[in-house]
Amino acid sequence: MNAPASTIEELTAQRDRASQEHATLVARGLKLDLTRGKPSPRQLDLTNDLVQVDGPLTSADGTDLRNYGGLQGLRELREIFSGELQVPVEQLLAAGNSSLELMHDALVFAQLGTVPGGERRWVDEPEVKFLCPVPGYDRHFALCERFGITMVQVPMTPDGPDMDVVERLVAEDPAVKGIWCVPKYSNPDGTVYSDETVRRLAAMRTAAPDFRIFWDNAYAVHHLTDEPAEIADLLALCAEHGNPDRAFVFGSTSKITFAGGGVAFFGSSPANVEWWLSCTSKRHIGPDKINQLRHVRFLRDADGLREHMRQHAALIRPKFEAVDKILTEELGGTGLASWTKPAGGYFISLRVLDGCARAVVAKAKEAGIALTPAGATHPYGDDPTDSVIRIAPTFPEQAELEEAIKGLATCVRLVCTEKLLADRQN
Ligand code: PMP
Repeated sequence: MNAPASTIEELTAQRDRASQEHATLVARGLKLDLTRGKPSPRQLDLTNDLVQVDGPLTSADGTDLRNYGGLQGLRELREIFSGELQVPVEQLLAAGNSSLELMHDALVFAQLGTVPGGERRWVDEPEVKFLCPVPGYDRHFALCERFGITMVQVPMTPDGPDMDVVERLVAEDPAVKGIWCVPKYSNPDGTVYSDETVRRLAAMRTAAPDFRIFWDNAYAVHHLTDEPAEIADLLALCAEHGNPDRAFVFGSTSKITFAGGGVAFFGSSPANVEWWLSCTSKRHIGPDKINQLRHVRFLRDADGLREHMRQHAALIRPKFEAVDKILTEELGGTGLASWTKPAGGYFISLRVLDGCARAVVAKAKEAGIALTPAGATHPYGDDPTDSVIRIAPTFPEQAELEEAIKGLATCVRLVCTEKLLADRQN
């Protein structure tokens, strides 16, 4: 096990060693990419049979799926996902291929039309604010920026967002209209919200009558262990606490079947679903039901879905384990970094000494290792502590991944020991 360097001499020796290793890395001219959480080609191969659709192109009730219509999406597919997404079938819609698109649309619909319970359109409010648990998902933050929504950071805890902060902010400020939540295996920390967090989100008093929880359950079935995490049922709890219209639930098969050819889901209260359909009926005449049928034939049922996800886990678990093993060997006990060990999802968060993340990412880039920009996990790309680095281990082949993580560890040692030396000398 490594030990923290305590004297200036030890630190200097460590820094020099890391500097030499880094120079060797740069000379090798690597080209490794750890930027985005994409399924690997081998994961995508698991779903190749999706493109074959045998049998009649009709739904269980005999509807011709080649034609227009069916705004709610195929019921058979909604039945498969209803349990895992914790949304009753009648309140769950199956849509196009991207849940991010649905989140975008939810914001547009709320800006340009009044959501149930609202007094006016969000675009007519002097200011709209969203609570952003950090670290979080950069594309949520990009949506807020796109629509001029002010982002208010809320720290994450091991149980989800810090609910004392959330409850205070939503109670005192009617401009706070929403919160982003990735409740299971969150991006990037892999946090699973506790039952108490979910209950408090459902029950809290909000100054805005049209407050919405954007419940992005992107990793609902993406377990890495044999003990799937369970979260409390937000929609049911909202209804129980007299706030039935509070939650918008999102999900998709992007990391189940094909990231570019899957199906996305929207679920909510009956009133919100009716409102949603009234908006989407102006936007299209029905989703791609043939793709939805392909998904039904391929996944078959909820058990088929779970079995399919076990095959994904078998491919990506070794990658997550390798990252943990290499980081432990290279950085364990040094006090220079810590990292998450998620039980599901797509990411590992690496925390380096404050003020070092940007420099680590830059050093990795010099060595041909592309990482998500430091700061991307925070609103406006600004991590005030400059300490969080998101690692996306799924896409590279195992050997490439291992090489990239070893290189990354070298960059962490180099930058962090330099920082400690600079601190000592000041
Ligand atoms: N939400 C989260 C939390 C994600 O991590 C991702 C993909 N990285 C998405 C949504 C994107 O979902 P989709 O492919 O359905 O648009």
